[in-house]
Amino acid sequence: MKQIRHFINNKSIDSKDGKIFDSVNPATQTTWAQAALGSKSETDTAVRAARNAFDNGPWPKMTAKERAGFLHKIADLIENNMDELAEIETMDMGKPITQSRGKDLPRTVDNFRFFADYITLSENESFPMSNDYHIYTRYEPVGVVAAISPWNFPIMLASWKVAPALAFGNTVVLKPAEQTPVSCYRLGELAAEAGLPEGVLNIVHGFGPKSVGEYLTTHPDVDLVTFTGESNTGRAIQKAVSSTLKGVSFEMGGKGANIVFDDADMNEAIDWSLRAIFTNAGQVCLAGSRLYVHKNIYEDFLTRFVQKADQMIVGDPTDLKTEIGPLASKEHYNKVAGYLDLASEEKFTIYAGGKGKGWWIKPTILTEVHNEMRVCKEEIFGPIVGIQPFETEAEAIHLANDTRYGLNAMLFTENVRRAHRVAAALRAGTVWVNCFFIRDLRAPFGGFGDSGIGREGGKYSKEFFTEPKAVVMKI
Ligand code: NDP
Repeated sequence: MKQIRHFINNKSIDSKDGKIFDSVNPATQTTWAQAALGSKSETDTAVRAARNAFDNGPWPKMTAKERAGFLHKIADLIENNMDELAEIETMDMGKPITQSRGKDLPRTVDNFRFFADYITLSENESFPMSNDYHIYTRYEPVGVVAAISPWNFPIMLASWKVAPALAFGNTVVLKPAEQTPVSCYRLGELAAEAGLPEGVLNIVHGFGPKSVGEYLTTHPDVDLVTFTGESNTGRAIQKAVSSTLKGVSFEMGGKGANIVFDDADMNEAIDWSLRAIFTNAGQVCLAGSRLYVHKNIYEDFLTRFVQKADQMIVGDPTDLKTEIGPLASKEHYNKVAGYLDLASEEKFTIYAGGKGKGWWIKPTILTEVHNEMRVCKEEIFGPIVGIQPFETEAEAIHLANDTRYGLNAMLFTENVRRAHRVAAALRAGTVWVNCFFIRDLRAPFGGFGDSGIGREGGKYSKEFFTEPKAVVMKI
């Protein structure tokens, strides 16, 4: 069985009290790894290490080129260890190995390379005032960053925080999700192998409330909190950080609307819509879980969508053919399955799919749904989509915006004017037109409403992870 520990000051350490917790492989439902369970003591040690590395170490003072060199080295090492890391993600989280190997790990590498390149190309402004004065900006690192990450894309989403935080000269304490601690631990080891100075990246394992997560968000020596997870957790963290006034960036839940107009390319719309809801067994903040289809094409779309969903291969995530793995934990399976149990109470129809064996849920399509039902309002975070017909563009926009979330939306149409009009009207951080999941790391990423606070990506990450300073000079 794999044993992992905290990683502080480039050293692997046990918890003082020797406590550990299990990480369960969702496919076999057996413990496959054990992690040190952190307490206040390990959180303090990690924050002290990060504080010391920031206040007294070389990292924040390095040139962008020097820091970029370290980030590229980390990316190289991730690439060299990709098979091992992909296997870890699949064992820890249950995602199909093709997803871990083909998507999550390459994107993790990209996150490091992108921010390495970004800082070397990044410019500062100057504001000439008159012949007597001018002002220029400096983007100073903020300090110690607490990065709190979720279980659905463990190393990929952790790196989306760690890479920019480090690139801009901060030091980091990372708390991975309790369900998936292993790949982030390996990230710490690889960063040390890349030569990152002691204390620059520290990893502490533990839980959220009354544990490492909460201790980090209330710690006086933590300057910034970057969090990805559920909106309710975001609410708790916002309260916790207020006692010590820290900057926050929250990437939270979603209930993505997906509108298919009757002039859409039907094959394209079906293929993207399947990916939008069934990728990673729907355990994606961006999942297109509310599908609105124009009434003229509704029956045809439904028949073809269900046919394709039924053909998806549900099974062992280590099998190269598998498209849908188990849900990540028993607790999460119970939550998702609980939504299907609402069918008789809420009076919707489970048109296709349903519960599978173990912790699997088959690709599931609900009909006879409306926006007032819990299955349409709440983030299910599983392979379950509710489909509703609509008649007019205005109705589609209203239905799509009728949510407290606002992370993303999609629309399918061949009418370019409608595409721009609807994209402008949708209240969401990202709107995909005739596609889904396409990202450029320069673009802003984040959500409206309960889906987020702040944006990350490119210059948006620069704003969050730095303190812009104006230097005013008399010439
Ligand atoms: P959680 O909110 O349950 O947990 C996320 C992280 O926060 C975990 O590390 C967790 O620790 C920690 N945490 C929990 N409570 C606290 C607390 N009080 N103080 C500090 N830290 C805490 O989310 P999940 O891991 O379940 O991830 C799924 C959620 O993440 C979904 O809602 C999904 O939409 C969202 N998400 C959003 C994305 C986006 O970019 N907008 C991307 C991916 C996911 P522990 O694991 O120990 O509980």
